[in-house]
Amino acid sequence: MAHENCNHGPGEHHHGHGHDHGHSHGPPGGPGGPPMDIQVDPAMQLLLDSLPHTPKPFALAEMPIPNTQPPITQVMVVCLEHKSPACEQCNVNFTGLNYMHQFLRAAPPEAIPPPPNVQPPPQRAEQIKAAKEAGNTAFKAGNIPVAVQNYSRSADMALSRPPWELAAVSRDETAIALCNRSAAFALAGAWANALADAEAVIALKRPWTKGHFRRARALVGLNRIEEARDAIVDGLQFEPDDKELNNFLQEVDVKLAEQDKA
Ligand SMILES: [Zn+2]
Repeated sequence: MAHENCNHGPGEHHHGHGHDHGHSHGPPGGPGGPPMDIQVDPAMQLLLDSLPHTPKPFALAEMPIPNTQPPITQVMVVCLEHKSPACEQCNVNFTGLNYMHQFLRAAPPEAIPPPPNVQPPPQRAEQIKAAKEAGNTAFKAGNIPVAVQNYSRSADMALSRPPWELAAVSRDETAIALCNRSAAFALAGAWANALADAEAVIALKRPWTKGHFRRARALVGLNRIEEARDAIVDGLQFEPDDKELNNFLQEVDVKLAEQDKA
C-alpha cells in the first residue's frame, strides 16, 4: 500500500488539458502567426466608440531600428506628411505606440496574455508531466531523494504557470505532483512532510480521494490513528465506494481495536 503513488490526477479521466488537439496553438497573432479571430463584444465596442477622441492622420513606414547590425527595419506609425514618428509640425508623437508595438513583437509569447479562447501552448504541460514521470521512475526504483526532487520541480512549474492560464489546470498538476511527493515522503518515513503535502493536496482538490488517503496514511505514520480515521471518513464523503479508502478504513479500525485492548 505504501508503495503506491497518485498517478491518476483529479479529473484526468474526464478531459485532457487541450494538448490532444490536432493543431498547435502558437502565439496568436504573433510575428508570422495567423490573424487573430476575436469576437467583438458589442457593449465594449459601444463604450470605445463613445470615448471622445480626435483622429490623427498617420501612415505606416518601414523604418530602420537604430544600432542594429545587420540593419533591422520595422513597420512604424509615422506622420502622414513627413513620415516622422515624432513630428512637431504635425503635432504628433507616436513614439510610445511604436515602442509598445516593438515590445509586443519582441516579447516572448509567455509575456503576453493570449485572447481568452486560446489554449495555452502544450509545451509547459509536457514538461510538467515529464518531471512527474521522472519522479515516478525514481520512486519505483526506490530513489526517494530524486523522486522528491522531480515532484518538486513538477509542482514548481505547475505553480509558475502564467496567471491567465486556466487555474484549474495548474491546480490539477500541482495536486498530482504534491500527492506523489507525499507518497515519496511516506515511503521514506518522513511523515510530517508527507502530512504537509497531503494537506496541500486537499486544499487544492478537496473532492479528490487520493489527498484524503495520503493524509490518513501520514497520520497513521505519526501514530495519530483516530485522526487518520477521521481523514478517511472525510474522503469517503466524496466517494463512498472508493476502494483504497474503504480498505484503509478496515486496516485503521483493526489498529484502533488493538489500541483499545492495550
Ligand atoms: Zn509631420
